[in-house]
Amino acid sequence: MIPAAFAYKRPKTLDEALGLIAGDGAEVKVLAGGQSILPLLKLRLGSVDQLVDIGRLEELRGVRRTDDGGFAIGAATTYTELLDSPVVELACMADALPTIADVQVRNRGTIGGSIAHADPASDLPAVLLALEATVVARSQKGDRSIPITSFFSGPFQTALADNEIITEIRLPAPSEGYGSAYVNIEQPASGYAIAGVAAVLGHSGGVMGSTIIEDVRVGVTGVADHAYRASAVENALRGTDCSRDRIARASEQAAQGVEVNGDIHADREYRTAMAQVLARRAIEAARARSA
Ligand SMILES: Cc1cc2nc3c(=O)[nH]c(=O)nc-3n(C[C@H](O)[C@H](O)[C@H](O)COP(=O)(O)OP(=O)(O)OC[C@H]3O[C@@H](n4cnc5c(N)ncnc54)[C@H](O)[C@@H]3O)c2cc1C
Repeated sequence: MIPAAFAYKRPKTLDEALGLIAGDGAEVKVLAGGQSILPLLKLRLGSVDQLVDIGRLEELRGVRRTDDGGFAIGAATTYTELLDSPVVELACMADALPTIADVQVRNRGTIGGSIAHADPASDLPAVLLALEATVVARSQKGDRSIPITSFFSGPFQTALADNEIITEIRLPAPSEGYGSAYVNIEQPASGYAIAGVAAVLGHSGGVMGSTIIEDVRVGVTGVADHAYRASAVENALRGTDCSRDRIARASEQAAQGVEVNGDIHADREYRTAMAQVLARRAIEAARARSA
């Protein structure tokens, strides 16, 4: 289908892009990989007066190590570029990235576009929640850091203001001996998660098998109207030995406190059951991978 007419601008710098979205009342949107916004426009589920293409701004691309041993990921870095970067040292990232869509979408779709779009079934939000990412957003007034736990606020809704562009996603250095994993059940046609769970486990030292697990982080996607941390599961496991029995019992609370989605792909009961099963599998895999 053909979208309604709109103006197209390709700024040469981020500053220029920020000026273009600063707003005079017109509906102006940023274009990154185009894998979500262009289908919406073509299906006429939305319309814009102007698209500001940031997809080729070099200052928004690439992955760099931060001084504390973490990562800073440019918002316009594609999934394919991430798969070819040191970010895949984080096992949950290496698990999640290949499950996103197909190679064509991964070649164009960006990490910043994924979280700005905030589709409730996107894969990376669960992973970034478990990794405790920070989103860096810039407007003409300067930079703002938003903890990922306060970023997603509803279906396709985020804490981002209209005049802000995500510039970077920062991941802190993993703790000593940490282990992580992401597992999902996909909608077969698109690859979107019917349910997906990321887990990160960490301890302060010693051998995991005989150590109390102090750090448990579980991110869930596909299940509710936006990705969330399964805090009931985390609370049930934090400070324990994370035995298989405990993991199984704690995982039963994976959908506690959220309104579970039901749609043509999966009803509420099935999604609830899958959240529980996937939480158990992700936590067990993270534990097995921890040193
Ligand atoms: C066939 C198909 C299958 C898919 N399957 C999956 C899947 O299995 N899992 C999955 O997670 N996703 C899937 N997706 C979605 C895909 O991951 C999208 O690429 C992603 O959601 C959006 O990234 P983008 O760079 O293409 O963003 P765009 O489409 O360019 O933009 C999306 C939205 O984000 C805003 N935006 C983009 N970048 C920024 C920024 N830096 N700052 C502020 N706002 C910004 C735009 O204004 C727009 O509102 C699929 C998409 C398609 C077409």
